[in-house]
Amino acid sequence: MRDTPEAWESRRRRMLTQDLQGRDIEDPRVLKVLGELPREEFVPRLERPAAYADRALRLGRGQTISQPYVVAFMTQALQVEEGMRVLEIGTGSGYQTAVLALLGAEVFSMEVEEDLSLVAEQTLDRLGLGERVTLRVDDGGLGWPEEAPFPRIIVTAASPRPPPALLDQLAPGGRMVLPVGEREGGQTLCLVEKPLVPLPGAPAVSLSPLLKVMFVPLRGKAGYV
Ligand code: SAH
Repeated sequence: MRDTPEAWESRRRRMLTQDLQGRDIEDPRVLKVLGELPREEFVPRLERPAAYADRALRLGRGQTISQPYVVAFMTQALQVEEGMRVLEIGTGSGYQTAVLALLGAEVFSMEVEEDLSLVAEQTLDRLGLGERVTLRVDDGGLGWPEEAPFPRIIVTAASPRPPPALLDQLAPGGRMVLPVGEREGGQTLCLVEKPLVPLPGAPAVSLSPLLKVMFVPLRGKAGYV
């Protein structure tokens, strides 16, 4: 199949029905956005033929762009509403960033690799999403204190435990989705919820395991030593 717009469209449709709806992705807004966003635009040339494959893709610099199902699953679990401020750690290709922007979020996205952030910025601008996104090259494990608190936080690199700065910067009533666990050998995607009103004697946040995953490690202060 040649790389015509129709060919991309048909690959995107198949991803939607087989890999997302065929599993447990039901949120119509998430399905609509993933069904419209051209994933091939975010994928380096070498990986482009596999843009809609049911796996993570190489991004360069040892980094990866997550499998479509994992992007959809995390986005669905995050429950983003129109106009919400979302902090994202690990801009990578900007694909997850674009999904959040298309859901109407105001996205603040951090990346340690300057090259990746620059390419992501170009892609987001090309697709007309630049205005809904603010990118920053810095250690996301420390969060973005100047813009905190955030009602939603999403982390797309694994850490041994939820980074304390991100727990602090999560707004009351907020949700954070992130992979937690061993550096090698897989992690668990977790949902962190902060109650609207802290209950005396209760933990400040609750943590629920959602899915077994494999992410690249978070670097920097909140990563692995
Ligand atoms: N969400 C991305 C995939 C990200 S892969 C996408 O859709 O394409 C994880 C990314 O996290 C990598 O780009 C990596 O460079 C970045 N990263 C690792 N440690 C980081 C840190 N401490 N702060 C910000 N970004 C980090």
